[in-house]
Amino acid sequence: MTNTLPKISLPWDEIDTVLLDMDGTLLDLHFDNYFWLEYLPRFLANKNQRLLDECRVDLQQQSEEVKGSLNWYCLDYWSELLSIDIPKLKLQVSHKIAFRPQAIEFLQSLKRRKKQIVLATNAHPKALELKLIRADFRRFFSVMSSSHEIGFPKEQAKYWPLLMEQYGFQPQRCLFIDDSFSVLKAAENAGIGFILAIEQPDSTKSSIDCSPFTGISNFSQLI
Ligand SMILES: [Mg+2]
Repeated sequence: MTNTLPKISLPWDEIDTVLLDMDGTLLDLHFDNYFWLEYLPRFLANKNQRLLDECRVDLQQQSEEVKGSLNWYCLDYWSELLSIDIPKLKLQVSHKIAFRPQAIEFLQSLKRRKKQIVLATNAHPKALELKLIRADFRRFFSVMSSSHEIGFPKEQAKYWPLLMEQYGFQPQRCLFIDDSFSVLKAAENAGIGFILAIEQPDSTKSSIDCSPFTGISNFSQLI
């Protein structure tokens, strides 16, 4: 099937740096969706002797309250709010952490092209640490940046100049790949030269329409 997908050609000589999102881009978002939408509500229902649907609704509301902020991604915030050791709980389902199709091959191709590879994630450092236990991609990256260290999430305009200045990147010579529309929009507004979206961040769900961005369904399209 991957052979039939159209190749996406990029002006590689105009690109020095490739900024990659982690969850839903490099890694299958199924792990995160499963944990937050299935495993955690069930755990809370058992622990607190409550109905599963009630726990789901509560989590949904609590999530809405901090959406788009760093707290949404902050494991310490959720551990404290729910009185649960979230990193420890995540570890119990860590066997579900997986690369998206052809992610490693894509990283290898970027190395061959001599591009600087940068992880630009909103994931909390403890969440990143957990992912690396199951999917160790460190060897490919010259920079691994969590927005918790920058001080703003990628959705916010303030994030981008801070990231660019901290590492001396030229925005117009960066390629950025992510699965979140609000993040892609912020990157576009910040003058990032080349932007691609992920059509199927969660392998168990159907593809999404990425317009106005160019979408990729498999990294083989870029190799
Ligand atoms: Mg993502």
